[in-house]
Amino acid sequence: MEKKKMSLPTQIVIALLAGIVVGLICYAAGLASFTASYLKPLGTIFVNLLKFLVVPVVLLSMIDGIISMGDMRKVGSVGWKTVAYFLCTTAIACVIGLLFANIFNGAGLFPVLHNAEGATWEKATSANFMDTLVAIFPDNMWKAFTNADMLQVIVIALLLGGGVLAAGEKAKLAKDIVSSFYAVIDKVMTFIISLSPIAVFAMMIWVVATQGPNILGSLALVLLCAYIGYIVHAILVYSFSAKAFAGVSPLSFFKGAAPAMIFAFTSTSSAATLPVSKECADKLGAEEDISSFVLPLGATINMDGTAIYQCVATIFLATCSGMRLTVGQMVIIVVTATLASIGTAGTPGAGMIMLAMVLTAMGIDVNMIMIIYGIDRLFDMGRTCLNVTGDISCSLCVTKWEGGKIQPKA
Ligand code: ASP
Repeated sequence: MEKKKMSLPTQIVIALLAGIVVGLICYAAGLASFTASYLKPLGTIFVNLLKFLVVPVVLLSMIDGIISMGDMRKVGSVGWKTVAYFLCTTAIACVIGLLFANIFNGAGLFPVLHNAEGATWEKATSANFMDTLVAIFPDNMWKAFTNADMLQVIVIALLLGGGVLAAGEKAKLAKDIVSSFYAVIDKVMTFIISLSPIAVFAMMIWVVATQGPNILGSLALVLLCAYIGYIVHAILVYSFSAKAFAGVSPLSFFKGAAPAMIFAFTSTSSAATLPVSKECADKLGAEEDISSFVLPLGATINMDGTAIYQCVATIFLATCSGMRLTVGQMVIIVVTATLASIGTAGTPGAGMIMLAMVLTAMGIDVNMIMIIYGIDRLFDMGRTCLNVTGDISCSLCVTKWEGGKIQPKA
């Protein structure tokens, strides 16, 4: 008799709930340090595996996308339209994030919290614009790969993809190698993602057991603020652009994008969601060669949810540390959060690491991140969902701007 297998998102939701219950039991039994020593490492292994995937996935999928476009002029034209869409929507996201954070803050809804213990983060580099621009161009290909410097990896993919097109017939072997390795890495990705329920279960137990149930309650408000920002952005910006530029009604857009949104919500990785977003975008009617280019690029640099989160978190942490920000400082937040979100990799928790860059620019103590570390996953679910939705909407708009027809597939 054949057994019906539970879908991955269902498995993840069950793991999340079970993790909270077991976490509460461990908290009551005083087993916090046990969970930190023996359960958190399971989550770390999973995150390591995801990070390991990012470079090959971005590199291969982008080169593959460029090759499949077959014409350098088309890459240039699709490229600038895509980047323009990404930049505009990310800047709007920052403004929405700041608006709601200021409303919450003005109403005195942001509480002062205690530091969360036992967490670590990587310090981000400075947000100087020219430095950021120069740093995009690699001086050593392998260094870009080993540091997982995503902007450099994108430049490498653009150059190599362009080289393959320019070399014509002689590049046949290179083309075959790229598509063959891409198929392999796709299988590896599917396998690693299938392990995510175990990681979610272990991480949830650790979070609840070490932080206690109160941490979730006291952070509910800042979480609510971010989620209002995510939802307003999705409804205002994405359904508007899908309708106005691509002629897809908001209802059909969200219905078509739903599988990718749910997957992103549960996996918290834009990169891992790529195959699902590709399927959704193509079904909604995006041209396949355009979605092969826009989606991997979007999964790497287009992070509107991350931008909203970084703005909300910055205002929240500034308040927690007793700072009052001026309008000028808010403008700096918009610029740095836009840059930080571009530099954020499409992997779980990456946006929180880049938040350190925004905090440093604002003169806020980076140690404050500890306060929201414990519930980062809850922020991450929503922001990744929004990030992926933005990529799908962009692939539809660019298809239309390139003179293509939106032809939904059954
Ligand atoms: N997890 C997010 C993503 O993959 C990035 C982030 O942490 O903000 O899109």
